[in-house]
Amino acid sequence: MKTIEHLYRRFRGYPQNNLSKKGIDMEKLFSINPYVAGPDLDITGKQVKLPDIVRSAKNRSTVEEYPSAPITQFDEQWILLTSLEDMEQTDYDVLIVGTGAGGGAVLWRLIEQMGGNGKRIGVLERGGLLLPTHSQNIATMNPEQDEKYFHTVAKFHPEYPSPQVYALGGRTLFWDTTCPRMTVSEMAEWPVPIKEMELYYSIAEKVMSVTHNFSKSASITQTLLRRLQNNGFSDSTDEPLAINLEPAAQYGVVNSNPFFSSLIFFAKALNRPLDLAINARVVQVLTENDRAVGVKAMSPDKKSYVIRAKNVVLSASTLGSPQILLHSGIQGRAIGHYLAGHSRIVGTGIVNRSEFPEVLGPLRILVPGNEQRPYQIQILGPGGYFWVQYKIQPLQEKWEFVFVASGKVESRYDNKVILDPFKRDALYANPASSHTKEHPSHIENPVSSVSSVRKKRTKISPL
Ligand SMILES: Cc1cc2nc3c(=O)[nH]c(=O)nc-3n(C[C@H](O)[C@H](O)[C@H](O)COP(=O)(O)OP(=O)(O)OC[C@H]3O[C@@H](n4cnc5c(N)ncnc54)[C@H](O)[C@@H]3O)c2cc1C
Repeated sequence: MKTIEHLYRRFRGYPQNNLSKKGIDMEKLFSINPYVAGPDLDITGKQVKLPDIVRSAKNRSTVEEYPSAPITQFDEQWILLTSLEDMEQTDYDVLIVGTGAGGGAVLWRLIEQMGGNGKRIGVLERGGLLLPTHSQNIATMNPEQDEKYFHTVAKFHPEYPSPQVYALGGRTLFWDTTCPRMTVSEMAEWPVPIKEMELYYSIAEKVMSVTHNFSKSASITQTLLRRLQNNGFSDSTDEPLAINLEPAAQYGVVNSNPFFSSLIFFAKALNRPLDLAINARVVQVLTENDRAVGVKAMSPDKKSYVIRAKNVVLSASTLGSPQILLHSGIQGRAIGHYLAGHSRIVGTGIVNRSEFPEVLGPLRILVPGNEQRPYQIQILGPGGYFWVQYKIQPLQEKWEFVFVASGKVESRYDNKVILDPFKRDALYANPASSHTKEHPSHIENPVSSVSSVRKKRTKISPL
């Protein structure tokens, strides 16, 4: 439901409730919008004209009471945000922690299934507003620049292979959009039957616009694909990629975000009852009688907030979710255990430019895994041009390309993360914080990736 207060918060950066006391001429508002009968009326879908905030001497001081809505915060709001203070006032039906692939998908599906039935959904994200779209949708990015930017903003751990992205959208702001399905042999032990998985895959692939068409017109891909298919790799395909290649629809609908990120899930949830707080790091799930009743979240200035909810969905990534659960003292055989990894081998090859028609296009091939071949191979190139924006592909005789072979590392009980009692997160170091004494929050990850022949011990340093 949208009310006048939502509009003021969104378009005028106005942070608080009780509008009439804060310099807004409510009479004028009602007179120029005859169908708005009161400040709490649902105005979803209606056009409303907003009179200016009256900055008389009397209420100027009232407006200045709220330094937490400075222009910078307002400028950042390309997505409607809610403060943690406001979220503390609401009882949520569902609270989602994390906004990457997992959190975004849960949000979209809940909104799609629950529609407008009045259920309240809250979302808490540890990071801020880094990018409003997948990095490859940004006009000034090319693969080189994208790589550099990613290395600047992602959090790398020296012993853990997968960097984290703490921001709205999580790692999907930078992911490569490759969407292979699990192989039938991988799904054999899966708790969900294959038939059902097919249904869910098709739902997910539809909403993420997964397509094999990205490299269909690329001569380098099609030539190499034919050679592979004729030489023992008959199941090779153009890579399935989450990229919306549909031509812009009629009526002014423009496809402005072709490369998929979790922000598309948020776009699909617009105009629904949804509260999103950023820079809100969840540190604990609160329970009563063995049921989750909410979470404790911290702001960067180390204030803690209790957000209540009937259901809590943790989607704070591989390390973040077990960290929160362990920190909350929630027990369970699987918590922090059975991690799976992917071991990778990367090789390079060379192709001769003269063997291909004039325009090469992107090289994106997937050789999927199967019963006999328990690993997949991606073939990417040419050079760094596996996606091309505005940068011109130079003419050169020889082009390098890469093979990436990935096998799944068996998921075992021993592959685990644990809290490291000797390390403490800076967020908890403040004695004023209620978490300081009881809960060291660092994770040790003794076995984050295990090859079939050798176990590797990995410790995670402060997050
Ligand atoms: C460069 C790159 C390329 C990739 N390419 C592919 C690919 O082609 N195909 C593929 O399938 N996968 C790919 N991946 C992996 C894929 O992006 C991840 O598997 C996927 O995003 C995981 O989703 P997630 O929701 O679990 O975690 P994330 O996407 O990491 O999201 C977790 C979110 O939780 C937030 N969070 C963490 N802790 C807290 C907390 N305590 N409180 C609140 N919020 C918190 C984080 O800030 C983040 O926004 C790639 C990853 C990277 C980095």
